[in-house]
Amino acid sequence: MRAVAGSPAETPRAALTARVKRLAAEHGLSVSAVTTAGAFPELAERLERHITAGHVAGLDWFTPERARFSTDPRNLHAGAVSILAVGVAYWSVDPAKPDDGVPRGRISRYAWGVDYHDLLKERMGRLHRAIEAEVGGPVEARLLVDTARIVDRAVAARAGLGWYGKHACLIVPGRGSGVLLGELLLDVELEPDAPLDKHCGRCTICLDRCPTGAIVAPYTVSTPRCLSFQTIEQRGAIPPPLRPLLGDWVYGCDICQEVCPYTKATRLPPDPAFLPRTIDNAYPALPFLLSMGDAEFRALYRGTPVTRTKRRGLARNAAVALANIGTEADVPTLLIALKDHDEPLVRGHAAWGIAHLCARLGLPVSRAAEAALDRSRMTDVDDSVRREAANAFDIGGLEGGVGNP
Ligand code: SF4
Ligand code: SF4
Repeated sequence: MRAVAGSPAETPRAALTARVKRLAAEHGLSVSAVTTAGAFPELAERLERHITAGHVAGLDWFTPERARFSTDPRNLHAGAVSILAVGVAYWSVDPAKPDDGVPRGRISRYAWGVDYHDLLKERMGRLHRAIEAEVGGPVEARLLVDTARIVDRAVAARAGLGWYGKHACLIVPGRGSGVLLGELLLDVELEPDAPLDKHCGRCTICLDRCPTGAIVAPYTVSTPRCLSFQTIEQRGAIPPPLRPLLGDWVYGCDICQEVCPYTKATRLPPDPAFLPRTIDNAYPALPFLLSMGDAEFRALYRGTPVTRTKRRGLARNAAVALANIGTEADVPTLLIALKDHDEPLVRGHAAWGIAHLCARLGLPVSRAAEAALDRSRMTDVDDSVRREAANAFDIGGLEGGVGNP
C-alpha cells in the first residue's frame, strides 16, 4: 500500500482525494467517486441467481466462474487499495428524427458519437499519469472500461457515484443514467465516498414502458428479451415474436432511460464527443442500411460503437424496422433485399418484413411480392432464408406455398 507522505491523520488523504477528483474533471471525466478495492461477495450470489434464471442467456461468456471473478477487483490488481470510479455524460440533446419523407431508424444515444471505450481509456490513461505526477512517483494502476471482468455499476454504486434504478442502470445525480463508466484500480489510499441513500420509490415507469417486458422485476433485466441485446449482441435471427416490438430501433434501445424522470430532468451539457457526426449516425435511412456495402458502412460508422453489430446485423435490424414503420412504398426496398442482399440473415428478415409490413397495413400482397417469396422459399441457397420465406406465407395469409420447400 502506498502511504501518503506525512499523513498522520485522514486530512492529507482527503486532500489528495479531492485533488485526484479535480484532476479527473480536468481530464474530461466529469464525474468521479472513490470506493475501496474490497470484494462484493453478496453480488456474486446475485449474479449466479441471474444466470440460473436465464436472465443472461445468449451472453455465453457470462459464466458463474466469470461472475465470481468479476466481484473481486483484486483478481485484476492484487495490490489495489482504492478504486476511482469515473464517468462521462453522453446524453446528448436529441436532434430529432428529420421529417424528410425517408423511413429512418433510431440508434441508441451512447453510440451516436465516438466509441466510448477509446475515449474513456485515453482520458483515464492521461489521468493516471497526472496522479503519478501529483503523488510524485509511480502508481500501479489497472484501467477498466466496460469489461465483464469487473462489476462496474456495483463499483460505482458503492462509491456513491450514483444509485441503481429499477431499469438496472446507474442513475447519477444531475445526469440521470446517461453516463458511461470506467474504473481506475490504484495502489494509492484514497478517501472512500459513502453510497447514496436514494432509490426509485414507487415509480415503475420504466417497467411499464419497456416494449418487451424485459425488466422482469425491479433491478432485473432479462437479456434475451431486451432489444439492446437483440439488436447488438444477437448474431443470428431475432426471435419473430420480438420483431414487431423493435419499432424503429436499429442499434440498441433507450426507452427505459428516456422515460425515467431523472434522465429527463438532465440539463447539464453532454460531452461533445458523443454528438452525432451526421444525422445518419443517430437516425439512419433504412433503405441505405439495406443496400450499403462494407465501404459505406465503414465510412459512416467507423470509430463509433455501431461497428459492433457489423454491417449484416445493422441491415437485418433495418429490414425489421422498415417492416414496422414503413408504408406500401417500402415494399420494393424489402423485395430487393430479399432477392439481392449478399447476407442470408438479411434476406431472411426481408422475407419476414414483406409479410409483416403488408399484414400490418392490411394490404393485399402484390403478385410480385408473392412470387418473390415463393421463389425464395423454393430456391434460395440458404436453408434459413427458405424457412423464413415459407413462414412469411403464414404471416401474410398468402395462398399456397405453406410448408417446407
Ligand atoms: S433497453 Fe429497451 S428493451 Fe431493454 S429493458 Fe430497456 S426499454 Fe426494455
Ligand atoms: S423510470 Fe422510475 S423506476 Fe425506472 S429507473 Fe427511473 S425512477 Fe426508477
